[in-house]
Amino acid sequence: MEKMIPFNKPYLSGNELEYIKNAVELGQLSGNGFYTKKCHAFFEKKYGFKKALLTTSCTAALEMCAMLVNLKSSDEVIIPSFTFVSTALAFVRQGARVVFADSSIENPNINALEIESLITNKTKAIVIVHYAGIACDMDIIMEIAIKYNIIVIEDAAQSIDSYYKGKRLGTIGHLSTFSFHETKNISSGEGGLIGINDIKYINRAEIIWEKGTNRADFFRGNTSKYEWIDIGSSFLPSELNAAYLWAQLENLTLIQNKRIMIWNYYRTHLEIWALKNNISLMKIPEYATNNGHMFYLICDSISQRRELIEFLKSNETMAVSHYLSLHSSPFYTKKHDGRILRNSDFYTNRLLRLPLFYELNVEKVVDIIKIFN
Ligand SMILES: *Cc1c(COP(=O)(O)O)cnc(C)c1O
Repeated sequence: MEKMIPFNKPYLSGNELEYIKNAVELGQLSGNGFYTKKCHAFFEKKYGFKKALLTTSCTAALEMCAMLVNLKSSDEVIIPSFTFVSTALAFVRQGARVVFADSSIENPNINALEIESLITNKTKAIVIVHYAGIACDMDIIMEIAIKYNIIVIEDAAQSIDSYYKGKRLGTIGHLSTFSFHETKNISSGEGGLIGINDIKYINRAEIIWEKGTNRADFFRGNTSKYEWIDIGSSFLPSELNAAYLWAQLENLTLIQNKRIMIWNYYRTHLEIWALKNNISLMKIPEYATNNGHMFYLICDSISQRRELIEFLKSNETMAVSHYLSLHSSPFYTKKHDGRILRNSDFYTNRLLRLPLFYELNVEKVVDIIKIFN
C-alpha cells in the first residue's frame, strides 16, 4: 500500500527559493520591499484594484476591513454562517454584532435573496464569501448595498483567478480580502491581501497597515513629520513571504491549469458513482467560473459522510469536512438571534472535500477515483 495521500501539501512552483535568497541579498527582509511592491503591482495591474496591500493573512486583511468601515458597537454586519471563523471574528473584534445569514440551496454561498430581510438601520456592512472560489450572485448583492448604502466586503480567500459575469472576484465590492495560506491555490505559507476598489479607503488603509502612522505619506514627501495618527497594527508581511508569493504569482496560469485539470478529472469520473450513491457533486452557476480551489461532494447523510471518510482513510486517502456553522459555535450561539439556518447546517453535516493540491499528479487522482469505483 502506498503512503497516505494528504488532503493538502505545500509545493514549489519554480523560483521560490531563489527569490527568498535574493531578498536576503537585497538587504531588506522587513515589509514593503522589492518583492512586496512587485506583488502589489501585479494585483493593481492585473486585477485592477485601486490599491492592493499584502497582509500577514486573510484574517489580518479582514481586520483591516473592519477598522476601515469604522464600526460602532451597535452596528450590525451581515455574514454567512457557513464560513471560516475569521470572516466573522474580524468584525466581532471591532465591536460589531454579527447577523448570520443562511446559505443558498444551490451551493454554500450566502443566499443573496435573503439579505434584504436581515437589513436594519444598524446594518453597516455585508461580508460575502465566494465559497470554493465560486462567485456569489453579486448583481443582487450590490443592488441591495446601493439601495441601503451598505459597504460590501468580499472575502475572496478562496477566489484567486475566478470570475462573476466576466468580472474578477474581489473587484466588485468596496473592499476584498485574499488568503495565501498553505491550503489556498497560491501561497506564501501564511499571507493575505486587501484589495481596495473604492478610492476613499486608500489613504486610511495605508495608515492602518503601518501601525496607525503616516509613514507612506512621509516617504512620498507629503508630510514633514512621521507620526502616529490613527489605529492600526503591523499588518505587512516580511519580504521572505512576499518573495515566495511572487514566484507563485509568476506561475499562476500553470498552477490554475493544473488544479482545474484535477478538478475536471474528479468531476467526470465520479459522476456515475455519485448518482448511484445519492451523492451530489459541485455545480457551477452559469454566472460563475471554477478556479479549481476545491472539489467537494454533498453526501446523502452525516453517517454516509462518516463512512466515506473512514473508507477513504483505510485506502490511504485523506478527505475532510468543514465548516461548523458559526451561528451555533460555542462562542456565538448565545449571541445569535435564534433563527434556524437550515442550509448552513445542511452543508455542515454533508459536505466532504477530496484531496486537491498542485503536486497531486494524474496517476494519484486515478488511484483515488479507483477507490470509489
Ligand atoms: C482561509 C480562509 C480565511 C482565512 O485565511 P488566513 O489567510 O488563514 O487568515 C478566511 N476566510 C475564508 C473563506 C477562508 O477560506
